[in-house]
Amino acid sequence: MSQFLSSRYTNVQPYRPGLQLHDRPYVKLNANETSLPPSPAVRAALTDALIDGLGRYADPHCLAFREAVAEVLGVSIEEVFVGNGSDEVLAISFRTFFDDETPVAFPDITYNFYRDWCTTFGTPFTEVPLNEDFTVNVRALEAFEGPVVLVNPNAPTGIALPIEDIERIVRARPDRLVIVDEAYVDYSDGTCLPLVKRYKNLIVVQTMSKSRNLAGAHVGFAVGRKELIDDMRDIKFSTNPFNVSALTAAVGIAAVKDTDYLEQCMEAVAKQRAFLADELRWRRFAVLPSKTNFVFTRPVGMPAAELCRELQRRGVLVRHYDQPRIADWLRITVGSPEENEALLDALDDCLFEAVGLR
Ligand SMILES: *Cc1c(COP(=O)(O)O)cnc(C)c1O
Repeated sequence: MSQFLSSRYTNVQPYRPGLQLHDRPYVKLNANETSLPPSPAVRAALTDALIDGLGRYADPHCLAFREAVAEVLGVSIEEVFVGNGSDEVLAISFRTFFDDETPVAFPDITYNFYRDWCTTFGTPFTEVPLNEDFTVNVRALEAFEGPVVLVNPNAPTGIALPIEDIERIVRARPDRLVIVDEAYVDYSDGTCLPLVKRYKNLIVVQTMSKSRNLAGAHVGFAVGRKELIDDMRDIKFSTNPFNVSALTAAVGIAAVKDTDYLEQCMEAVAKQRAFLADELRWRRFAVLPSKTNFVFTRPVGMPAAELCRELQRRGVLVRHYDQPRIADWLRITVGSPEENEALLDALDDCLFEAVGLR
């Protein structure tokens, strides 16, 4: 820490993303990215005219992108906010709506960034424990007085909360905001977007990094009532008006419109997810019911942390959280058929070696 770091940030705990190692080729199943290419329309969107126009700033209102999202999702442009990844969208929403007095609630096992943003922005928070079976404690969140943040389906468990339960949390207290991070919603059966029409205290955040295979372009968006979106816009314009580049917007528009390709990808991932879950269960690993592009599993035969390290030595990256309640578990991204086979081969190699069979 330098002597110049603002006193505001002395407690900051930077978020630790999944390892990005480059010392050798890895089967990378630790950050829920995809090995599928983006929609073919993305390549076509990178035109000479776009490149020639890069001397100018992009539209700070992102109208073309918002129009595309609005059309595909059946909402209005005024209800859409776009950012440089949903991480930026979420960070802006935390900054816009939370203060340093009212605690924000989220589950104890969830996207770790919520805690980190609270720490960064000086917002107090309450971690509401998940139930024993790793489902969300809906009653506790209904009863909580302040704002609530949820990711649905939850990460890193992969478990989806029924939309009726989200609605109960939103409806319980119309005077507090609920933010639902739907990073993995395309892999599941239901979005809570329709609730935006009925409730003025709900913001739904989605990303193109996972289901649209565009983590490298990094674009995400929020949907909510116009008044909420206007507030976020004002905070964005007070910090970084040109947050979304022309390149990002162009590929985002192309990808969001290609719903046929999205469907194809979701089918392919669901098939591989079922395959991977079956294979892990066959090895007597516990596997939670996933509605995402990853599985959360408790290995047998070797402690999770050690298995994570051993897999890494064999060129396969998965995610382990050294954190209460889930230290015995691993989060494994659903890969391509080849990646999943490579993971299972490496897994068996670790387990055989552990019992002296190799
Ligand atoms: C991946 C992820 C994000 C971040 O997505 P970006 O759009 O790439 O910033 C946000 N929330 C959850 C729960 C995620 O898993």
